[in-house]
Amino acid sequence: MLIREFESGRSLLARLDHGEEIIGQITSIIRENDIRAGQLNIIGALEQAEIGYYDQVTHIYQGVQINEPVELASCSGNISLLKGQPYAHVHAVLSGMTGTVWAGHLTSGRIFAAELYIQELIGRDLIRSPDSVTGLNLWSEE
Ligand code: ZN
Repeated sequence: MLIREFESGRSLLARLDHGEEIIGQITSIIRENDIRAGQLNIIGALEQAEIGYYDQVTHIYQGVQINEPVELASCSGNISLLKGQPYAHVHAVLSGMTGTVWAGHLTSGRIFAAELYIQELIGRDLIRSPDSVTGLNLWSEE
């Protein structure tokens, strides 16, 4: 287990841009504002999206393409450092017109409308590095 204590930093609210790619927009905001650690949540809607399911046996992400407008019913994530740069790890619950729900790792999505909240956390750098057991880039003791 790894536990770190942080102080609260800046709180940001952002309206993301219609038609843009959501992970790209989040990444731009956290890098331009040098947010090195934090948590985030988003609500809104996407025109289309791709979520990932991580196969725990093969250690490969399986992509699920959603080619219809969906509500971004719930979306949360965290911010830490990957390869020296602020990186957002984002999960989402998406819902379609007939009540279908998709959930998982949000790989990409085209924004219809989205409202982002970021809570910056101030403290020692929290760095992701490859974990041999899971095959994922996890927070490390670095
Ligand atoms: Zn994930």
